Amino acid sequence: MVLAKDLSHHFSEEAKSRQPSQLKSMLMYRSVPGMRSLGGGLPVPALFPFDDVKAESLSYPFTKGISMESYGEAPTLGIDIIKSQADENYEDIPLSVSLQYGSSMGEPKLREFIKEHIRRAHNIKFDDWDVILSIGNTFSWDATLRTFCNRGDVILAEEFSFTSALEAVHSLGITSVGVKMDLEGIIPEALEAQLEAWVGPRPKLLYTIPTGQNPTGSSLSAERREKIYKIAQKYDFLIIEDEPYYYLQFPEYSYEKSRSPKEEITDKALLASETDKMIKNFAPSFFEYDTDGRVIRLDSFSKVIAPGTRLSWVVAQNAMIERYMRITEVTIQNASGFSSSIVYGLLRRWGQEGYWSWLYKLKDVYTHFRDIACDTIIENFPEGRYSFVPPVAGMFFWIKVDSRRYKEFNENKRDTIKCELDLWQKAIESKVLIVPGHWFLVSGQTVPPQKEITETEDEKYAMYFRGTFAGVSEEVLRSALRDFGLLLKTELSDSF
Ligand code: PMP
Ligand code: PLP
Repeated sequence: MVLAKDLSHHFSEEAKSRQPSQLKSMLMYRSVPGMRSLGGGLPVPALFPFDDVKAESLSYPFTKGISMESYGEAPTLGIDIIKSQADENYEDIPLSVSLQYGSSMGEPKLREFIKEHIRRAHNIKFDDWDVILSIGNTFSWDATLRTFCNRGDVILAEEFSFTSALEAVHSLGITSVGVKMDLEGIIPEALEAQLEAWVGPRPKLLYTIPTGQNPTGSSLSAERREKIYKIAQKYDFLIIEDEPYYYLQFPEYSYEKSRSPKEEITDKALLASETDKMIKNFAPSFFEYDTDGRVIRLDSFSKVIAPGTRLSWVVAQNAMIERYMRITEVTIQNASGFSSSIVYGLLRRWGQEGYWSWLYKLKDVYTHFRDIACDTIIENFPEGRYSFVPPVAGMFFWIKVDSRRYKEFNENKRDTIKCELDLWQKAIESKVLIVPGHWFLVSGQTVPPQKEITETEDEKYAMYFRGTFAGVSEEVLRSALRDFGLLLKTELSDSF
């Protein structure tokens, strides 16, 4: 048995002071045969005003694709979750269980399904790891900050990062400091140099979105992940990988003038072997290098099933998961019962292989949109006057433009952020909604301040724009990008 290191010195004052709930610890006695429980304040399931819950979905192997628009022509499956477990072999999570108070770790059947899925996707190097269900990576991140950081602590994040995550940091009185990145994510050498020159208390953790990063769409290579992990060991910080886009990993992009739709795979054996190749090609989780147990993974159904399921999970060494359980007990109690019953009902009918096939086909759909976005950018944006890296994961593309090329650079007092906002407004006037890059900037200042990172001219004048290729129809995506390309052609000069 390989055990994770004791990293309990990283727990916050809040996490250390949490006591187990005595009432929750009593729950286990309820299953003792013959026990007459007068102990728990549990409502009577007969008074839950639902007899059953029915849902319909598509059935594996999704012969007509995964869009619910094919519903009606494609083979379907019905899910009927009944109120009370008819016998011990009932495979779903009945409403009398899921709508009742239960373990804060989450519904055991759903947790088991997820654990089996994780074993296939990742190679966790230590045996004492576990999974706790949660209600989305948004909450898991807040719980993470409360578990490991005190007010006044410092954390690291990619220099452009997800704004809600940064707001959670800020509102807890924690300072986030940006780590330099290029179009392929964090630059390990820059991280190392930053930590070598660090003044004052060291950062507690690195918050990273390694795959299909929000907002830059970048994905860290295996080599960079390994180097970053080694730096985390050297400087003793935790790595929090927030990975809602992990399963949306695409093949490398190549330009094709006319794309023919990919043929739907309908054979289960072929689908299984293609899925196998997909998993082998996945960028590794930081767990791949984690011999210490310093990686915490936040995973969510939001981008692969639906955000409104509010179902997610945290993977980490047992001692950390135990602290997540304590915060869960006094905040959300547990993930929603309806959601757990229905999502588990769906997953168990698909089975592990069926769920992987769903992810495989989902990735194909997003790959198609990624391809359309990249083709349209290449065909319509002014060559040599912008740069971008075709994303290999996620939902976002990230366009970099030098503000000195902007025709109104001088009118905007040579201020890059002003230029970025100005161009953004012009895009809105052409009915194209994208997001100005500086909104995502991590700009926390420590006390005492860190050494100023010297910027190259290229960095100083870089304007960025985030767009998504995931949320609209092909036609809208094409026409919006054509118009934005036209705007760049009109507004940017060949030289500066
Ligand atoms: N507050 C009080 C006073 C309670 O008795 C309970 C349930 N035992 C709760 C809060 C927890 O409520 P909920 O299930 O809505 O989180
Ligand atoms: N983390 C990142 C990086 C995201 O981009 C998002 C969604 O936009 C979330 C977390 C939110 O995830 P959830 O719906 O699981 O709370």
